[in-house]
Amino acid sequence: MQAKQLNWLPLGFVLSYHVLLIALLPFVIGELNAAAWAGFLLTYVLGGLTITAGYHRLYAHNAYQAHPVFEWAVLILSTLAFQWSALMWSHDHRLHHNHVDTDKDPYSVKKGFWHAHMLWLFTYKRQFQPQIVNDLLKNRRVVLQDRYYLLLAIVVNAAVLGIACLFMHPLAALWAVILLRIFAIHHCTWFINSLAHTWGAHTYARELSAVDNAIVAFLTFGEGYHNYHHAFATDYRNGIRWYHFDPTKWLVWTAARIGLASKLRTIQQVRIQKTLVQKDKQLFMERLSKESDALALDLRARIEELSAKFESNATALSRTLRDLRSASEHQRNLLRIEIRRLRRELRATWKAWVSLTRWAANRYAIHA
Ligand SMILES: [Zn+2]
Ligand SMILES: [Zn+2]
Repeated sequence: MQAKQLNWLPLGFVLSYHVLLIALLPFVIGELNAAAWAGFLLTYVLGGLTITAGYHRLYAHNAYQAHPVFEWAVLILSTLAFQWSALMWSHDHRLHHNHVDTDKDPYSVKKGFWHAHMLWLFTYKRQFQPQIVNDLLKNRRVVLQDRYYLLLAIVVNAAVLGIACLFMHPLAALWAVILLRIFAIHHCTWFINSLAHTWGAHTYARELSAVDNAIVAFLTFGEGYHNYHHAFATDYRNGIRWYHFDPTKWLVWTAARIGLASKLRTIQQVRIQKTLVQKDKQLFMERLSKESDALALDLRARIEELSAKFESNATALSRTLRDLRSASEHQRNLLRIEIRRLRRELRATWKAWVSLTRWAANRYAIHA
């Protein structure tokens, strides 16, 4: 790596706050009162959530639509996170999704954990492709934030520092509310590109490096369910189960209740399962085609049979649900009975599919 190829602004910035955090610690340790920790937590939550709900799910993925008030809150408060503009962030993130695990992925984990975590920032040469973010280039608010990003970030953080100084020693304000907050938001966001592409479960897409990791989800307001997210990126949720920790989803849902967000996109459970069956089938068939024992042959027949059954039931359910909308009152009762039957069938077939593929994966060591 030649020195002239480095991106000095991010490198200098990241290095400086790490050094300052350590160097200033002996001088501030006695000054860290409850207000300092509250200030840290508040700015961490505001900076973090505006990135996950705003930059990520709203701008990068269009998973919902937002009221201009919500957008301005996102575009201003996200400068607490120091992740550059929503436009550039979304540009790079769309490249990440479109070319995940290849050379065109700006933070590909295939180049190593630390490259994906933070090193990419210091060598990345963005070749801006306007066609990737055409929709965002039409959004005046997003374009404005991009044009004045640095100024906005300085003003917002200076204002936060000024307010914090009213409640604590200025050094404690600088250390906890500015430096430590930037450190925490940066590393936790970066964990999504490093840890959530390394350590966890391939629940929905075995072929991707992205994984579901509840610990990363806890640190990043729900973004750790990253395997699901890569498989179904337009869903405004990342954690789809009721017990998944996904505060970003809760925030967007609440915003929708009070009129600040609309058109929340979700992927239906049956569609998720149908995709899983198709992907699993392909993976197992490829792997089992190399085996010639009777068990493998039997297994292949069973996989064919179960996947075909799931597919036809899922298609029938979608068709019946569509018919229900235009049916007469008498037909509706019959259709509802049919829908209940199809749902029962699908549940049973899904259960059989999961236990069969789990068993086969163990027996033939089939993993992502
Ligand atoms: Zn990813
Ligand atoms: Zn994404």
